[in-house]
Amino acid sequence: MTAASVAVVGGGVMGASLAYHLAVRGVRDVVVVDRSAGPGLGSTGAATGGFRAQFDTPINVRLSLLAREKLRRFKEETGSDPGYAPAGYLWLAQSEAEQDALARAHRIQQAEGLVEAVLIGPDEIGRLSPAVRLDGVVGGAFCPTDGFIRPRKVHEGYLAAAERLGVRVDWGVEVTGFRRGADGRITDVETSRARITAGAVVNAAGAWAAAVAAYADIALPVAPLRRQVAATTVCDLLPESTPMTIFVGDAFHFRVRDGRVLLLLPTPGIAGRPFDATVDPEWVEAVARVARERVPVLRRASIDLTACWAGLYEMSPDKHAILGPAAGCPNLYLINGSSGHGVMHAPALGQLLAEIILDGAASTLDVSALRPSRFEEGAPNPVSGVL
Ligand SMILES: Cc1cc2nc3c(=O)[nH]c(=O)nc-3n(C[C@H](O)[C@H](O)[C@H](O)COP(=O)(O)OP(=O)(O)OC[C@H]3O[C@@H](n4cnc5c(N)ncnc54)[C@H](O)[C@@H]3O)c2cc1C
Repeated sequence: MTAASVAVVGGGVMGASLAYHLAVRGVRDVVVVDRSAGPGLGSTGAATGGFRAQFDTPINVRLSLLAREKLRRFKEETGSDPGYAPAGYLWLAQSEAEQDALARAHRIQQAEGLVEAVLIGPDEIGRLSPAVRLDGVVGGAFCPTDGFIRPRKVHEGYLAAAERLGVRVDWGVEVTGFRRGADGRITDVETSRARITAGAVVNAAGAWAAAVAAYADIALPVAPLRRQVAATTVCDLLPESTPMTIFVGDAFHFRVRDGRVLLLLPTPGIAGRPFDATVDPEWVEAVARVARERVPVLRRASIDLTACWAGLYEMSPDKHAILGPAAGCPNLYLINGSSGHGVMHAPALGQLLAEIILDGAASTLDVSALRPSRFEEGAPNPVSGVL
């Protein structure tokens, strides 16, 4: 049996960021347990590394602005380079309704201080992403400070910095249950190795978070959703500085990473097998067809099937993170449900949850929009389905 003031279930980017932020605040006996053999085997290692502040709710814009500030001083803070490269995010609208949705989001972004985000017309789009066929494109939105980060570097940077500050990270250890006291609080975390007596427990189990919450009889509305990535062979058809380019209508998007063009087109996942993260060869053919149609230069690119991959998003019902103490189990804290934006928001969410655990409330940002109880209250965040 071991003792910890905080036991963190899951050593992905969320668990790592939280552990680091607790340790920086002086909490030294933090234990992170993860059933994977090592770092990066959950969703974090599957992320493509997009970073954006162009969202359509105030809380998501604010999380990104806080994360961006932290990414800019990440190396100074942790010693690792997070690879923040502001190549921009470029959204393309193919109808007036899509352009209106971008305009609504733009107003929210401006109000939150993302003043460099702009609405643009086809000429400017052609200048920013010249390889895209503009037929049918009526307008778009662009933010030059959006762009890319290196998910593994952010993850490893937080893990290493946390460990230097005394955090213990145990790989290959599965959490299998919780023991609770008469007041409902968790007293012990049962694992495949030793029992951990903990003052507080954090659910940072990504796409698998609902199963961990169920150990405390909590119904956490987080579900896995497969995301596939098709990769071309290494080529010089598009420059690395190409912005993340996204069609609003079907969310087809592409970017260049390490010489490969990465192609994404969301699908609903596999019916009956929600945790299946295999790549569907028919999907690869479909996304390649869309890419060749919309980015004609990619007709000269070949898909490298060995470099394609898939992973799991951790979806919440309103596609916003779930952050804070779980109702009914006061010392279980949730840092879940980022819905595919977890790497970019982890620097902010880890700091904010550390504030909640140590001070009783977050002080850097008002995170009430992320409170776990919002679903039972019938007050989820608005979901536009666009950004
Ligand atoms: C294809 C793809 C592309 C993406 N692109 C981006 C992007 O561009 N930008 C972005 O910000 N985000 C992106 N994401 C989303 C991002 O990867 C996630 O939001 C983020 O990694 C979630 O981090 P996490 O720490 O919660 O989850 P994870 O990294 O999955 O970590 C959770 C950990 O919990 C462990 N665990 C689960 N159950 C237990 C248990 N019972 N006991 C012990 N350990 C347990 C798992 O082993 C795992 O390591 C992408 C995701 C995918 C799949």
